[in-house]
Amino acid sequence: MQGVVFLGDRKLELREFPDPTPGPRDVVIEIKASGMCGSDMHVYRATYTPGDTQSGFKRGTEPVIAGHEPCGVVVAVGTGVAAREASSGQRVMDHHYQGCGCCKHCLTGWTQMCLEGAVVFGASGNGGHAKYMLAPVSTLVPLPDALSFETGAAISCGTGTAYGALKRIKLQGGETIAIFGQGPVGLSATQLALAMGARVIALDVSPERRQLAREFGAHEVVDARSNDPVAAIRELTHGEGAHKTLDTSGAAEARAAAVRATRSWGTACYVGERGQVTLDVSPDLLRRQITLVGSWTFSRQGQADCAEFVADHNIPVERLFTHRWQLQQADEAYRLFDRQSTGKGVIVP
Ligand SMILES: [Zn+2]
Ligand SMILES: [Zn+2]
Repeated sequence: MQGVVFLGDRKLELREFPDPTPGPRDVVIEIKASGMCGSDMHVYRATYTPGDTQSGFKRGTEPVIAGHEPCGVVVAVGTGVAAREASSGQRVMDHHYQGCGCCKHCLTGWTQMCLEGAVVFGASGNGGHAKYMLAPVSTLVPLPDALSFETGAAISCGTGTAYGALKRIKLQGGETIAIFGQGPVGLSATQLALAMGARVIALDVSPERRQLAREFGAHEVVDARSNDPVAAIRELTHGEGAHKTLDTSGAAEARAAAVRATRSWGTACYVGERGQVTLDVSPDLLRRQITLVGSWTFSRQGQADCAEFVADHNIPVERLFTHRWQLQQADEAYRLFDRQSTGKGVIVP
């Protein structure tokens, strides 16, 4: 089979890999949708150096198959897999991290935090941008019948990350949340927060993404470049600021603005990866009793909970996808996604 390999420096290629066969505790998933996630851009754009550990994960010297939002159907099951764990024909997502299985984080389903170091499928282990993917049975998450494979792909990272953050900060119905960045994670947060009964102020610098936020039902949409976002949010909240703020952009100014646009006793949350932020600690945090939360993806059970929430509330997650691509179009797909003005892309068979 062919798989997409990131070479760094915005290059990728399709390489030949053997079709996987399951070890005793593995399954093979036939991929029906493999999402493109903003965090792929770090690998896509990076200067590739063999053995690079910059990503913070174990990373081999050979590039692996990209794609960390795999979703599909089980087509082969290892000899040591019980029927109630997985069976052929089952629709599944994958919690795309493998840990030691024994440490305190693995035991609570947070395998990405494994004390022995995690393998991240699509970054340090083979991911979903191929016809098939080999996955340990312990990483499978059932896909509810009501959800499409594309929705399952989104939940496997971007949408799941948004859900995990909103749960971490205990977003309540009736509260106002300001969401910085309306890329796939921010737009998911907009959809989910609306379904949770919150009032959403959506911010982005891209007119296309602001338009998507409007279509998704955000109560207020702010151009973060031509407005002072903090002043705009205060104006929309009786001068107080939002109860909760979420930064999905990872941009330094947006992170600082998120904290400053949070009202006293409120909570700001960061999910955008990497980079820095500068805060003036007393006025920005202490004197206003702000809680600042860092939130990294979700546990295996958190992924299942997100899927259940999306199904129960009929959230049209598929609308995040503005572009559907074949595996052979991966180069064009990532070139376009790199511009950060589109919705989400997905590779489908
Ligand atoms: Zn572990
Ligand atoms: Zn991701």
